[in-house]
Amino acid sequence: MVPDQIELHVSRSQIFSGFTRSFDEAEFVLFGVPFDKTSTYRAGSKYAPAAIREASLNIETYSFRSKLDLEDVRICDIGDLHVVDSVDETLRRLSVVEHEILKASKIPIAIGGEHTITFGAIRSFPRDVGIVCFDAHADMRDEYMGEKLMHATFLRRIIESVGSDRIVHIGLRAVCREELAFIEKNHVRHFSMQELKGHGQEEDARNIRRAVSEFEKLYVTIDMDAFDPGFAPGVGNPEPDGMWPDLFFTILTGLCDERVAGLDLVELSPNCDNGVTAPLAAKVLFEAICAVESAKGKTAGK
Ligand code: MN
Ligand code: MN
Repeated sequence: MVPDQIELHVSRSQIFSGFTRSFDEAEFVLFGVPFDKTSTYRAGSKYAPAAIREASLNIETYSFRSKLDLEDVRICDIGDLHVVDSVDETLRRLSVVEHEILKASKIPIAIGGEHTITFGAIRSFPRDVGIVCFDAHADMRDEYMGEKLMHATFLRRIIESVGSDRIVHIGLRAVCREELAFIEKNHVRHFSMQELKGHGQEEDARNIRRAVSEFEKLYVTIDMDAFDPGFAPGVGNPEPDGMWPDLFFTILTGLCDERVAGLDLVELSPNCDNGVTAPLAAKVLFEAICAVESAKGKTAGK
């Protein structure tokens, strides 16, 4: 049975990966958040949940990294959040849905939409959850275009609420002066592209695993613009000099283990895509889910 609050706020559409279990059976509960109200450059991420579902139906589900087939993982795609014009009300509904999924001891996966949605999702998690953010941008402006809560400020709002020591930021290469000062003043842990390029990718993955080792639970948020625009052109704010897929997947699957309590993937803008960003986004979710599932299997087998 799907909990009442979820039935109130979301409805079914095309199914992610083509395999779905019932809500009760599922370990991972996935839903779309078609919201891009505060996008500043190439809007259209509200079309991403549909594009990612479609792409997910057209790529294979076996993970060579985790030696697992997604088909064997218990996932339930519950549909899309009913979003409205108001940022606050949309985020409130999102946090209600996340809360219900967590209450049922399942792992919520939100497909944005713009990055602001992470602010709504994170509200339903315990305050001590470690937040891993893949992003070209810091998203730590105090305000942007007169807005305090939007996709370029959301991480600052999160830091103000839970503290900077909960954040590990990966892939940074685009900041304004104000953000750089904020990062330095608050000692926000980050792995810039320059730093990542200075080591081999296995070493990067090890360093990042070490940085997240203190957290009991993890929330992973993936802004698709962390990738180089050559690999992921379909994003709202493309930023050159970014991550290549092998580096990204090595880091992602290195840190995704049984501690992952929630995930989101944001900022894919299908109107700007040439057909490769949506399959990459689907693959990111496949690999993240398989890495978590594989780690859980190992823990259970001990
Ligand atoms: Mn972002
Ligand atoms: Mn970004």
